[in-house]
Amino acid sequence: MPYSIVVNGLDNAYIRELGCKCERCQRQTRAANTSVSILETLPNGTVKGHLLVDAGAGIRESLMSHAVLRHNFVLDGVLLTHWHVDHTCELTHLAVTLARSRAREGKTLAPIPVWCRYGSERWLQKNLPEKAPLEFRSFGHLEPSGVLLEAVPVGWAGMWVTPVTISHSSADISPSGGNEDFPSCCGYLLEFLNGVRVALLWDMDVNNTWLEHPNAQNLETLERLRGVDHLFIDSNTWLYDQNKLGRPASHLSNAIVRRFARILEPKQTWLMHLSGHEDQPGSGFGWDDATWRRNAKNAWSEAALSGSVDVPTIGQSIALEPERELTANGVF
Ligand SMILES: [Zn+2]
Ligand SMILES: [Zn+2]
Ligand SMILES: [Zn+2]
Repeated sequence: MPYSIVVNGLDNAYIRELGCKCERCQRQTRAANTSVSILETLPNGTVKGHLLVDAGAGIRESLMSHAVLRHNFVLDGVLLTHWHVDHTCELTHLAVTLARSRAREGKTLAPIPVWCRYGSERWLQKNLPEKAPLEFRSFGHLEPSGVLLEAVPVGWAGMWVTPVTISHSSADISPSGGNEDFPSCCGYLLEFLNGVRVALLWDMDVNNTWLEHPNAQNLETLERLRGVDHLFIDSNTWLYDQNKLGRPASHLSNAIVRRFARILEPKQTWLMHLSGHEDQPGSGFGWDDATWRRNAKNAWSEAALSGSVDVPTIGQSIALEPERELTANGVF
């Protein structure tokens, strides 16, 4: 069964900053928060399965621009990386509008499963702006970062979804206002029956030391992540990784992504959550996607990193096929 990942958005939390004159804010193309759809498509092109990963601003526009989904929308569930507004602000509208359109067809929408960490469910249950047909199925409360949790039962025969706990300091806080550490963020490892593996790692801060200084448990995580076919990773800035007070940033810089890529050895790295507003002019600040792409490709080749790097476009569909093997007789 053909599987693919469709990119719904790749921008940072603020997408465009009003009044900002930089190229990123001034570009006249559509932009949306970081999100992808995992699709299972039948040979006739119909979408049989759809799992949405994150539902921030602009995501419904992206989904309704999809050539197949716009005419025949299906949704098996939502996988959330964390509760932050740029990953969840369209969640309830998504469910409400789907229920409204189903109702006009005389159908009742079963509540949409939403998988996320317990901390994120707590935040969302407290702050959801409207009643919506959603059914939270949270997991993983106090685990430290760099741990693989139990696979999420999404019910697809040819794919397994395993959450990976990641540190994201601005989200790892208690919804009740206390000072205790309240880990709330995870990435996802997707493993397909055809051997393809995909890692979705956003949002993550610079404290994800488990990648460079792993303990025994982290080593198992690294083993499962190493050599993935596609790594989608938080690359919020080019160099910026701490504020003026020396406090570590809540997102990765591309310089750190390159260090992680050396460890994880992905075949293809996709840069997500792009911002650059925290960077210096001439070094990340205000870069549009084409500039990000060009500079990242140069940096990859300068650092002699394995695999390739790219910035996706909204609506881009990435087929999840095993690598074709070259033989003496040619390409199979
Ligand atoms: Zn974010
Ligand atoms: Zn700007
Ligand atoms: Zn975040």
